[in-house]
This record gives sequence, structure tokens and C-alpha cells, in this order.
Amino acid sequence: MVVAAGRREAALSLDDSVTAIRGVGPVRSCQLARSGIETVGDLLAHLPSSYQDRRAEVSLAAARGMVDLQVTVAATVNSMRQLWTRRRRLSVLEGVLGGSGDDGLRAIWFQRPHLLRRLEIGTRYRFHGVIRQGRRGVQLVNPEVTDDDLAEARPTAVYGRLGDIPGSFFRRAIGECIDRLGEGAADGRTADPIPASMLRDRSLPVLTEALRSIHRPDPEADLAPFLEQRSPAHQRLIYGELLALQLALGAHRRLHDATPKPHRYVVDEAEHRRIEDSLPFALTAAQRRALQEIFADLERPASMLRLLQGDVGCGKTVVAACAMLAASRNGLQAAFMAPTELLAEQHAASLRSLFGSKHPVELLTGSSPDAGVRERLERGTARLVVGTHALFQAATSFDRLALVVVDEQHRFGVAQRRALWEKGSRPDVLLMTATPIPRSLALVLYGDFDLSMIDELPPGRLPVATEVVPERDRERVLEVLAAELASGGQAFVVFPRIGNAEVSCVVPGAGNLGAALTVAGMGAHYATRLLPVASGVITGRTERTERQRLIGQFLSGEIRLLIATTVIEVGIDLPAATVMVVESAERFGLSQLHQLRGRVGRGRGRGRCYLIHGELAEDARLRLAALEDNHDGFAIAEADLLQRGPGDLLGSRQAGAADLRHAHLVRDLGWVQAAREDARRCLERERDPAYRLLFDEVKRRSTRFEVDANEPGLARSSSAS
Ligand code: ADP
Ligand code: MG
Repeated sequence: MVVAAGRREAALSLDDSVTAIRGVGPVRSCQLARSGIETVGDLLAHLPSSYQDRRAEVSLAAARGMVDLQVTVAATVNSMRQLWTRRRRLSVLEGVLGGSGDDGLRAIWFQRPHLLRRLEIGTRYRFHGVIRQGRRGVQLVNPEVTDDDLAEARPTAVYGRLGDIPGSFFRRAIGECIDRLGEGAADGRTADPIPASMLRDRSLPVLTEALRSIHRPDPEADLAPFLEQRSPAHQRLIYGELLALQLALGAHRRLHDATPKPHRYVVDEAEHRRIEDSLPFALTAAQRRALQEIFADLERPASMLRLLQGDVGCGKTVVAACAMLAASRNGLQAAFMAPTELLAEQHAASLRSLFGSKHPVELLTGSSPDAGVRERLERGTARLVVGTHALFQAATSFDRLALVVVDEQHRFGVAQRRALWEKGSRPDVLLMTATPIPRSLALVLYGDFDLSMIDELPPGRLPVATEVVPERDRERVLEVLAAELASGGQAFVVFPRIGNAEVSCVVPGAGNLGAALTVAGMGAHYATRLLPVASGVITGRTERTERQRLIGQFLSGEIRLLIATTVIEVGIDLPAATVMVVESAERFGLSQLHQLRGRVGRGRGRGRCYLIHGELAEDARLRLAALEDNHDGFAIAEADLLQRGPGDLLGSRQAGAADLRHAHLVRDLGWVQAAREDARRCLERERDPAYRLLFDEVKRRSTRFEVDANEPGLARSSSAS
């Protein structure tokens, strides 16, 4: 920690390897590389977890009253001893600070055995940690320790441990970098890649200033914005990484647009009208707008990259169907990929009824691997096909595949989607989401796609009345269900599924008292209770023919209760259903529940949804209750994003978002938008020398934000591979 006096260190630049830092040898640099830290810039991106603030130093007496708060105290170590937990695996150190017995403050450290050697009895140090109420009174838990005489009278950054690397390493190494960076800035090697004018427009500090103020705040700095990561310095980092990502996506899109597709459509106004007039209902204004955007794309020389978003039940399928019809009428082939067989079968049926016999629709799924279909697709005699992943298997090839529609795209992996569009030559691509994706996330993950939004439901739809019901009140739900069925209604009961296992539920009073039942058992329980209404059970294991028979019977009203696992989760469109009961609702995500309840109330009559749950913590109960009042899929998706992070919400396409170190996709929506606008402007000025550093930086960082030319629009993380 003591700087060798008189020795002048060479200036560091952000691009320098970490090995330029004193004391970083092969072992340490290996450890750092494992955490993705290779350069000084990477190291400085490891931000403090908190700050020690001498100005906030409190007396021992005051500290004792500050339970659950961060405190800094200066005190003498009176005693230290090593405790071991019962299994002797966990090292626990206990120290008494300042005073003896009851006058002192107990400090406790887990897994820091080295402190026993480092801390000298009778010496004064500064301790920074959280006060907790323990069984033996208040104690200071895992405090950071600094030498009292070395601590400056300014806030000091505290770093968390990263893998094998202790926080103390970061404090020392980053401190050195900050010292040596000062000189680097002057020689131009550490100039901010973002042009000064852009930073000025956004009122942001230059990079080195931002890093310096985060790692070594000014003596008079207010720390609250630092701790909440909303200081201008933090915002510079957030903006910087979002700008780099948007530039990479924008550059990729530009490359994409420069290469024309081999096929041509004619979708003029007359053709558009003919297609719309063939539908059994009038499109909503929002559907028509989306369709116009799609048709305009189809006519362009470059192939379409478009994401179609809209809340459950807004009618995305029919919009995609119109695009497919346009392809077919232009003599081109179109493929519609759905995530489940059930959904593919249903889409095929509804497209067939929309298009009639003039534009036949083929079906290709794993359990209907019809060689005839494959042959017709290959020869081009079949133009329209709906299917599952069977569509992109090696055995399937197309004559002139021009349009690819992917429904519920988050269910497919990267490789699966890519395999499908590689079956065509630069096909037009339309992705559809199951539930809406928050705008910030869409701009990050689909930044190179155009967005179409359907923000309107077909006329006459009422929001699904939703009620959260604890397990003990299930009898009431059964009564409602019985009454609904008795008056001729139709209903779903849905069970969660985890992996391949069908989850069992505990139903008090069902069969043996309180027995755990499988879905089949629960189905039988419902079916018996609700006799004489005919019911059917569909699980992931139900055979295709059996499943089709049950769906057919449900559509015709022959059976009126469908008991199912989440195979019916997405997309299923059985308009007569009015009531949905979800079992073990706490096992579902909010967006998923919103998606599920969207299955009812699609025809006449208001839909009702009951969310039955088992034991719940209060926050989980509130989370479910949010669905009672909230019917806006976008708001729900945002709440989901806030709670579960982007991974769960998006499945496989999360790589780009996972690479964001500083930006937070809910908090930083404003910066996402700003970065997108600015990226667009930058791309127009790429040849301007003022932007050279910025584009170099984007290229250099392309290992992190690699955009794969083979997949339209995927910002892929190569560091993850
Ligand atoms: P989602 O957007 O959730 O995929 P769907 O495409 O399944 O929704 O459509 C929901 C239901 O609304 C379907 O039964 C569909 O036929 C119907 N629908 C779609 N558009 C309209 C419209 N403009 N007017 C009336 N009904 C419509
Ligand atoms: Mg759908």
C-alpha cells in the first residue's frame, strides 16, 4: 500500500494489459482473465461495492444503535480469537474493538483467517461494515479494515471479492491505476473514444474523469448517487456500453441492408386490399398499421428483419398470415415455425380456414414427418407450411423460401432459428413474441430489428377478471367452475411443469387425505368432482392423435373441461373457453400467467382466471395479486424483468443483455433510447475523423458484442462460449 517514493511510474492507458500494474504476475493475471479482466480498462470497470466514508465515522456507542446500517468506526483492537464452526470448515474470527467487555463492540469475520495475523492487539484501525443484531447482542459483521493512519479524509472505495481475488487486491491495483492514469490522459492514449461533443450534449464526463470519480470520489462528494449508480460518472459508463452495443447492432443492420434479397414481391395497395378483404373480420387499426409496415418491408430490396410485438390476444397470427398469403400470391414459399406441435397444428388449421383451398397449407411436425410434404416443399409445389423444429431439420429443403415467421420466438434456440433461415436465401424474417418484451430490452436485444407494435385488442374484448386464491379456498373455485360448466361454459385447469416432470400437487381432501397427486390424479379429482361434465386431460405425453381428438372435442363442445399442463400455455386459441384455473400459480412467472389467462375470454363472454397457490411469502402473494389489477402485458413484462432479470424472460436470446456490466434494463431505459438515437447519428458520420476512436473501440469490443453475420440481428456473446 505504501508507494515507493521518488520512483516515477510509466503512465498507464486503459488498453494496457493488467500485467503493467505492479505486483500483477502470471498467476494473478490468469485469475483476472478468468473473470474477463485483461486490460486496465477492464479492471477499472470493476466498480466499488461501497465506500468507506470517514465523514460518516461514528462513535462505538452510536454504532451499537445502528442495526442493519453500514457504519465506519475507528477503534483499537482489544482482543482477537479464532472460533470454528461445528464442522470446522468455516473460519470465524471474533474481535472486540475499543473498550473491554460491554464497552467494546464485537466484530465478527467469516472466512478471513488472515486477519488474525494482520490485526495487532492495541493498534487502532478503521472498520467499515454492517451492524447486525446477533444472538449475543449487536455486532459488526465482516468489516473491511484499513490502517487508521493511512486512511485519507475522503471517501474510500471498497471492493467485493471476485472469484479467487480478494477485494483488497482491487483496492490496491485500482488505486495504482488511477494514480498512473492521470499522466496517461495527457499523452492522448487514454482519450475518451466518445467524441467530446456527444458527451457534452448528454452532460456526461469524459471516461477517465468518470472512472476517477467513481474509484476515488472527491472529498466533498455526496455518496448517495454513487451507491445508487446514478452519478454522472456512472451514467457515462452506462451510456458508453449501450452506445457500443447499439453501434455494433446498427453496423450489422447496415451491412444486412446493403445486400439485396433474390426474391421480389408485388404488394401494392390493391393487393393489400385484396388480402385484407379475404379475412373474415376487419383488422384493428393497429393490426393494419403493422401489416403495412410488413408489406413495405417485403417490397424493399433488402430482406425484412422485423419483430412483431403485442399483448396476448391482439391478433398477431392473422397479421403473419397475411404476409404469408402475399408470399404465396407472388409465387414464393413461406414457413411458419411454432414452438409446439399443438400450436403448429392449430396454426395450420386456422390458416387453412383463412386461406381456403386456393392456398393450401402443409403441416410438418415431428409426429407427422410426411415425406410427401417434404417433397412438395423441395419441388416448390407447396408454398405454405406450418411446422415445428421439423422444418429446419436436414431432411427438409425448400425451392424458394422467401418468408420465415417465427411464433413465440423465445422458445427457440439460436441454432434452431438460424437453421431455418439458412434454408432460404436471405429470406424475410418476422419474429413474434409470446408476451410483450419491455421496450428497453427489445432495443438492446433486437436493436437491429425494426419493431411493429400492435397496441390494441380486437373489439369487444374485456380484460380477464383475475383472482388470487389460497389453496384452502379451492372449494370456492370448484363451485364457480361447476356453475360455469353447468350453464354450458368451457374451462381450462392448468398445472405447472418443471423440466420433464409433471409436478404433483397436494390437495387436502382429495383421495387419501392430503395426498400428493400427479397431474393425471388431479385431473381425475377435478373430473370426478365436476361430473357429469365431460373432460379431457392433455399432458406433454399425450399422443398426437389423442391430443387432436381432445382439442377437436373441446372446440365442438363435446368436452367442456380441459385439464392440462403448460402445453397449452402459449398461443392456443379456443375461443369458447371462459374460465381458467391455474394450480400452483406461484411456480409461474408473471408474464407466463398473463399469457396463460390470455387463453380465456377470446370469444363471447368475459374471461375469468383463478390463481390457486400454496404456501406463499408475503411478497410472492403481492406479486400474484399484481395480476388482479393489472392487464397491460407491457407493464407486467417490466415487473417480471425487474424481478427475474432478462434471462428468464427471454430464454436463449439473452447473450447481448448479459454482457451489459453497468446498464440496468429497467432503470436505464432513458439511456437505452439515447444510445440508440446517438448510434444512428454516429453511423452517418463514420468517416468523420472525430468518430474514428469510437468505431475503433466498437471493433475492439466486438469480441464482447459480436454480431454474427449469419443470424439476422443476433448480438452474440463470444466470451460466453
Ligand atoms: P395472439 O396475438 O395472442 O397470438 P391470436 O393471433 O391468437 O392472438 O388472436 C386471438 C384471437 O383473436 C383469434 O381467435 C383471432 O381469430 C381473433 N382476432 C384477431 N384479430 C381480430 C380482429 N381484428 N377482429 C376480431 N377477432 C380477431
Ligand atoms: Mg399467438
